[in-house]
Amino acid sequence: MAADPQGRSADMMRSHRAGDLRADDIGESVVVCGWVASRRDHGGKVFLDVRDVAGVVQAVVDPQVAGLEVAHRLRHEWVVRVVGDVCARPDGTVNDELPTGAVEVLAREIEVLSEAEPPPFPLDDRVDIDEVLRLRHRYLDLRRAPMQRNLRLRAAVNRVMREAMAEQDFVEIETPMLIASTPEGARDFVVPSRLRPGEFYALPQSPQLFKQLLMVGGFDRYFQIARCLRDEDLRADRQFEFMQLDVEMTFADQEDVLDAVSVAVLAAAEVARPGVRLGSIPRMTWHEAIERYGCDKPDLRFGMELVELTEVFGQTDFRAFAGADAVKGIRVGGEAEMTRSRLDALTERAKSLGAAGLVWMRVRDGGVLESPVAKFLSESEQLALVDVLGLVGGDLVLIVAGKRTMVRDVLGTLRLDLGRPPVSEGGLRFLWVVDFPLFEETDDAGGGPAPMHHPFTMPHPDDIDRLESDPLSVRAQAYDLVLNGWELGSGSVRIHRSDVQQRIFSLLGFDAEDARRRFGFLLDAFRFGAPPHAGFAVGVDRFVAVLAGEENIREVIAFPKTQSGVDLMTNAPTPIDAAQLRDLGLRLLDPKP
Ligand code: ASP
Repeated sequence: MAADPQGRSADMMRSHRAGDLRADDIGESVVVCGWVASRRDHGGKVFLDVRDVAGVVQAVVDPQVAGLEVAHRLRHEWVVRVVGDVCARPDGTVNDELPTGAVEVLAREIEVLSEAEPPPFPLDDRVDIDEVLRLRHRYLDLRRAPMQRNLRLRAAVNRVMREAMAEQDFVEIETPMLIASTPEGARDFVVPSRLRPGEFYALPQSPQLFKQLLMVGGFDRYFQIARCLRDEDLRADRQFEFMQLDVEMTFADQEDVLDAVSVAVLAAAEVARPGVRLGSIPRMTWHEAIERYGCDKPDLRFGMELVELTEVFGQTDFRAFAGADAVKGIRVGGEAEMTRSRLDALTERAKSLGAAGLVWMRVRDGGVLESPVAKFLSESEQLALVDVLGLVGGDLVLIVAGKRTMVRDVLGTLRLDLGRPPVSEGGLRFLWVVDFPLFEETDDAGGGPAPMHHPFTMPHPDDIDRLESDPLSVRAQAYDLVLNGWELGSGSVRIHRSDVQQRIFSLLGFDAEDARRRFGFLLDAFRFGAPPHAGFAVGVDRFVAVLAGEENIREVIAFPKTQSGVDLMTNAPTPIDAAQLRDLGLRLLDPKP
């Protein structure tokens, strides 16, 4: 390639990133490379928008000049290399919306590096594109600004969390992908063994057992940004594979873990939202969370708390409330004029969630309650209601009565339906939820308690005596991290004593042989000097989604699967051929009709 007139060599692949050019570069001879984002023919000149990772710059080409005729042929998404001079845009053509809008590159040479077929959708971030098309051609979708921004944010979050952990003396250690099953409560993905036909590895649901073994191995602070796999139904906040900042530490209690993880997540959040200072993360007990918000991952960006009304209606004659296990209400500010059809829809929603009905009341000035059921409530009940809920004219009140667990669920859901801001609004509200119950009831055949977290979670020292007599009342030393109503992660103090572990296994219905078969290696390890230890895991995909203001984690994952578990680009999962099956010692059953 020719040396340029200013004596600078034009043979480098590129001298600048297109999107980086600014007024300071005027007069420079540059070489930029990128995709043709648009091309306009005007008055004998061709105007190109050349897009690269840094943004877009306008190149002006005179196709009459020998060698530049190619400008007429260029099409969207062709890859070009432009050699030229940076000039100020003529008066009246400066584009203030564009960081490069003060300049343009007057082309002296254009080289086509790659031609492109017309893309199946416009690569313009202002248009909504069908997600199926986007996922089928994810490599094109990734060129769009929102995906570029989200994946860079993701990289920054990972980098900052990694640095924060390293600075706190945590050691990054990789754990294996082909393992025996980990008990996180989901279904395993399994991998057939070729060398041992009929036997299978499981892919890790988390590095849980390995990180605990690392503690026995004397690494007293471990972390890993780990890939985890769980064969569960996919949702907006769930993929088969996900990444977590996985942490474990010895000679540490809940406080130490909460401190160490807080440092990492707050640092990442402050990088994602420059200028925002978050302070420390508040705490709430699990019990308080479900009573006040109706769920264990409260979204603190808005109020509308569940208010206890059981006592207010303790002596009521109103049949719907009399003798109820619990009566709770929420105050929906400024919604007194809600239409009857919306109220009917809310009532249907409440019923679909298990409520017998939904009582609503419009609050008029002076605290007068207007409702089909107002006549059934005594004056003192009405006054107490206004007082306890802090009602003012213009409010709407929604009340549910019945079994306490149902009341919390129903009102917690209605609260979110009515008040939850979009993920991109309302700032960042972190919360530690602590003192989870150790067990929850299951509806499985056989019943019995199931671990709320996992079976290696240490019971609360004050409750351990009730393990066998009243297991559902036992609190765990387990904690969750919540951000804007998303569960970001969970952790616990672990059991490091075999006798306690054995009691938990028995409660869960594993006999000694079962426990040996599944976790023998862990129980063995614990016989050789297990230090007290505790840990946590932060879901990276969810964390980045909230920080990016995205409702769906697919928006922050380079190559996600669809809701039905398919990779639309590679078509995975795909059948394998007979020879491969034979190698693995497998024969397929007919798929279910
Ligand atoms: N292994 C747990 C999980 O993946 C986290 C933890 O307890 O550290 O949810």
